[in-house]
Amino acid sequence: MILNKYTGEQIEFSCEVFPPKRDDDMYEIFQTLDALEGLQPDYISVTYGAGGSNSKKTAKLAAYIQNVCDVEALAHMTAVGMTAESLNERLEELQKKAVRRILALRGDKPRTMTDEEFETREFRYASDLIKGIRAFGDFRIAAACYPEKHPESESVESDLMHLKEKCDLGVDELITQMFFDNEKFYRFREAVDRMGIKASLHAGIMPITKVNQLGTSVSLSGSSVPTELSNLIAKYSEDPEGMRQAGIEFAIRQVEDLMRNGIGGIHIYTMNKADVTKEIYEAILKA
Ligand code: FAD
Repeated sequence: MILNKYTGEQIEFSCEVFPPKRDDDMYEIFQTLDALEGLQPDYISVTYGAGGSNSKKTAKLAAYIQNVCDVEALAHMTAVGMTAESLNERLEELQKKAVRRILALRGDKPRTMTDEEFETREFRYASDLIKGIRAFGDFRIAAACYPEKHPESESVESDLMHLKEKCDLGVDELITQMFFDNEKFYRFREAVDRMGIKASLHAGIMPITKVNQLGTSVSLSGSSVPTELSNLIAKYSEDPEGMRQAGIEFAIRQVEDLMRNGIGGIHIYTMNKADVTKEIYEAILKA
């Protein structure tokens, strides 16, 4: 927990890491986790490869976070690629490793999956996965939400309706897709409140520290980019160090504004870079 210097309330502070693709890079991620441990986050989440690829590494990193770093681990898990049998195996493994928190997701179609396999999947939505996890045992469950709606949703209203159905199954935290425009988040938060959704909202913050990072992130998320951020990218197109600093400062301004407006949780997409997260963490604590 960190203290919100503007409201005097406690805020959950958390981070996301992803398992490296190459086994050789595992040493680096353990170093990143050791550095993040020093920030004493409320939890560190570990992503899950599309369709279940790399799921062993997700469990391994979650176990390290939980048992070596002594920080709560939140293991991501997707419905796509899951069967009742594999879900049981994954949950038993997490239970054995003392990991008690799961981010239950639908997932997207992996490149290796045919359209037919995707359409006939056993667990259709995140909500079906949540039901399976609840039936297995006692896990704390988080879910994803989209301040600018899920890209496949027909409308904001239908996305919110499905979000409410998901939350009614027992969701403790909602972690947002990255967003760069806080006004969009505040409108979403009002709608979430109107729907009677009680889960705590954790704002997903992606620090943009490289000129080419935004293109990839935005095309995947559908998040809109305010002029202030696109101007920074144009200004620092030839200056990597300037971009790094400007991206960190943009993220700090975003978090400070969220704190002034009473946010419940800040979730940093670390991109496995502990130094960037540490700079943001230290700046937002300063009076
Ligand atoms: P859902 O909640 O199932 O919603 C998906 C879509 O279906 C939405 O449009 C929703 O409105 C609609 N819908 C929901 N229920 C119904 C219903 N009953 N009938 C009709 N429509 C319905 N992906 C990974 O592969 N690995 C990760 O580790 C990962 N981590 C993520 C972390 C966060 C914080 C976020 C925001 C996303 C993450 N993703 C990850 C991406 C995620 O898997 C995709 O965004 C995916 O497309 C949707 O997942 P969801 O859990 O939000 O889906």
